[in-house]
Amino acid sequence: MSGIDKQKIVDSVPQRGFFGQPRGLFTLFFTEFWERFSYYGMRAILVFYMYYEVSKGGLGLDESTALAIMSIYGSLVYMSGVIGGWLADRLFGTSKAVFYGGILIMFGHIVLAIPGSLAMFFVSMVLIVLGTGLLKPNVSSIVGEMYSETDNRRDAGFSIFYMGINLGAFISPLIVGEVMKTSFHLGFGIAAIGMFFGLMVFMLTRKKNLGLAGTTVPNPMSPAEKKKTYTIFALSAVVIGALVAVGIPMGFVTFDVFIALVGIFGLAIPTIYFVVMYRSPKTTAVERSRLIAYIPLFIASVMFWAIQEQGSTILAVYADKRTNLEFLGLTISPAWFQSLNPLFIITLAPVFAWFWVKLGERQPTVPVKFSLSLLLAGLSFLVILVPGYFGGSEALVNPLWLVLSYFIVVLGELCLSPVGLSATTKLAPAAFSAQTMSLWFLSNAAAQAINAQVVKFYSEETEMLYFGAIGGISIVLSIVLFLMAPKIQGYMKGLK
Ligand code: GLU
Ligand code: ASP
Repeated sequence: MSGIDKQKIVDSVPQRGFFGQPRGLFTLFFTEFWERFSYYGMRAILVFYMYYEVSKGGLGLDESTALAIMSIYGSLVYMSGVIGGWLADRLFGTSKAVFYGGILIMFGHIVLAIPGSLAMFFVSMVLIVLGTGLLKPNVSSIVGEMYSETDNRRDAGFSIFYMGINLGAFISPLIVGEVMKTSFHLGFGIAAIGMFFGLMVFMLTRKKNLGLAGTTVPNPMSPAEKKKTYTIFALSAVVIGALVAVGIPMGFVTFDVFIALVGIFGLAIPTIYFVVMYRSPKTTAVERSRLIAYIPLFIASVMFWAIQEQGSTILAVYADKRTNLEFLGLTISPAWFQSLNPLFIITLAPVFAWFWVKLGERQPTVPVKFSLSLLLAGLSFLVILVPGYFGGSEALVNPLWLVLSYFIVVLGELCLSPVGLSATTKLAPAAFSAQTMSLWFLSNAAAQAINAQVVKFYSEETEMLYFGAIGGISIVLSIVLFLMAPKIQGYMKGLK
């Protein structure tokens, strides 16, 4: 898209009307609020739904399978962002992508809300994976489209948007976690209603608030390319369908094969991305150097999300089985712990933002911040090892240990998550800027692909070794990154 087109889009968006930000931010804030409300509400109870016995309304899967599915699911959700971003870029623009995505997500939750079999669960998973891939990276891209290159409200705009994400993630586990005591399906129903509200906000306010933002197709396909793409999509659907229909009954597509495939894709896709960007003739020498700098940061980000995302898998099981849920006369739902991370994010994000501004030039560089986040992530796992060390794996643990662990990981998240996205936009070559959102989400996808392999080593008997080993690896990586930081900074060629 040319600079003139970009300016035309910016001019079409009412530039005031939401906390001093463009009015479109209202639409995007609430669309993403409701989407995250439904996603994190669903995830807060999904792991329990999978391993609770059938008599308790669950699917009765074994715990280790349930944990692996949670990770694969999370990985695919962020991996599909690559397709979602690409479709928006070449076929229908970001706004339509968000709309179609929201519809798919809503139906995904509706399918889960209807009591049914394991097969229904997988149908819903496919819908939500594809839907989130269409919605999540694109809704964030539209935020970026509303500001001119020189507009210094951009960072503040993204911070407000980030609050919307975490507000949605905070509220829903509280509601859905309570409802789960009655019925899991009712809980999933609430997630579906949340996505419905998100779609309504988007549909009813986008014309007025978003102007042309999201309506253009930045790099449209020629009719011949379209034909080729449709053919590839149709063929892939047939191949996947055949593999499922034939491979599963014949036994060569097993669950382990599937996990391994996700693992391979999780690592191969970002690698291919890097190679393509590095070798592209459109990438300049300075950009090439910045790409080199981005690699260790990306790896650190994978390590960080691997621990952070276990907050809704391993730590959820820990909350359910190892924690004393009678606290101060209250019976706590294990799903409520999922509200802690976003709650801490909402309260601490402004403090961190203030702190970085106050430090100004003296603030740590991006690699140092990433190294700090790995240290904190590692500590959050070491902390959760302590009660087991003193009390054994039989006695129920005080829930405050979990609260502390979530608190520490959030300190790390605030050194990495907001910094990482803006670092990605700055370090990615200009020719690939449309793909940067999905590139950033790929670090999370890779992390959860690795988690799918790792979580099977967790059990109540192995918990100390498990938390100790993963926490330890993160701390070692943190030290390595800290030592490499000046070098990485050099490769960043002047970017801070
Ligand atoms: N909690 C963040 C979200 O849902 C994580 C995404 C990421 O990997 O940056 O937006
Ligand atoms: N902090 C996560 C994110 O930024 C939300 C969560 O893990 O609940 O959206």
